[in-house]
Amino acid sequence: MNRERIFSEIEKSRGEMVELESLLSSIPAISPDSGGTGEWDKALALESWLIGRGITDIVWYPCPDPRVPGGKRPNLVATLPGAGEGRLWLMSHLDVVPPGEMSLWKTDPFKVVESEGRIYGRGVEDDQQGLSSSVFAALAFHRCGIKPARTVKLLFVADEEMGSDYGVQYVLREHSLFRPDDLILIPDSGCSAGNEIEVAEKNLLWLKITTKGKQCHGSVPDEGRNAFLAACDLALRLHGLEKSAFPARDGLFLPDRTTLSPTKKEANVPNVNTIPGEDVFYMDCRILPEYPVDSVLAEFSKAFRAVEEEHGVKIGYEIEQRVESRATSPRAPVVTLLCEAIESVYGVKAKPIGIGGGTVGAFLRNAGFDCVVWGKLDETAHQPNESASLDNIIGDSKVMALLMGLEY
Ligand SMILES: [Zn+2]
Repeated sequence: MNRERIFSEIEKSRGEMVELESLLSSIPAISPDSGGTGEWDKALALESWLIGRGITDIVWYPCPDPRVPGGKRPNLVATLPGAGEGRLWLMSHLDVVPPGEMSLWKTDPFKVVESEGRIYGRGVEDDQQGLSSSVFAALAFHRCGIKPARTVKLLFVADEEMGSDYGVQYVLREHSLFRPDDLILIPDSGCSAGNEIEVAEKNLLWLKITTKGKQCHGSVPDEGRNAFLAACDLALRLHGLEKSAFPARDGLFLPDRTTLSPTKKEANVPNVNTIPGEDVFYMDCRILPEYPVDSVLAEFSKAFRAVEEEHGVKIGYEIEQRVESRATSPRAPVVTLLCEAIESVYGVKAKPIGIGGGTVGAFLRNAGFDCVVWGKLDETAHQPNESASLDNIIGDSKVMALLMGLEY
């Protein structure tokens, strides 16, 4: 009975979903790291939108950031009280990535356009699909005058795209908002079938590797020490450790193994006839949780020494990023409840998965809070002509309503 009322209230909100998405996309919430002014105005607009519709218990946890006008980045929590003791957090992010190459957009990225059941614009999927779904689920309870079983906490955070220093990391550091038995869903990643629930991440390690040799003329290479050549040898050796040192497989992840990839390459000498005396390249390492990052660094160090000896160079490294992530158990209550809700709404059996790493879930998991990342998403995030399906916003909203706690 309640289920029908809540679900039909969510379905009725289709037009209003487009309105909210349009409002949010019209305020570019781009990080100062990417040349933007932050998320403050977008947060203000969202707050007054919520208050205008009766969701009035909103608390701000702003994080200082002198780089933006006003000097603060917004983090805010809207609360809808529940009938019982349990609590559900739905955490979405306010920031968007820049539109990128404008000529690739068919429409204005900051003006939402609706066409054939989809909406187009920067942010409509990432992360406003999750944000809107969570808002309209809460609003449906409010409008129907039904108390959810669990207290609902809509958490809107800043700075997800650029590492969350001013977002959830700040919130975790400065405020004690979460309890270990809270259910936490981050509707910010998923697949088109809606059947993948992210519970774990690989450990992440990004390295900048500098090789120093001796520059000389290209005609007499023996008089120098070719830093680029040594670095090529090193890149192959480091990549080769995937098989020789870290061979484990884990079916939770795709791909199911540790990957050690040479990626970015900085320019060395500007001309062809010089043996380069210095070389810089980067490694992006996605490591199965069973291998500590230190064990990878130890193997890397052995390869550094071997290449130093063979090529007569000096190798140094800097850690650009290092994230080790505790996993949410595939049997955690939030996983079980979400599987039930997904099956009930979408008719698919969902499965827990692990991903390559670097999402916001790791911060919560490492702080001791089980969380899952899920949405029925077509994965157009960060692309030109980013889009979201209105049916998915409605469906995800129903899944969230079930998590809030109805009899079903
Ligand atoms: Zn996102």
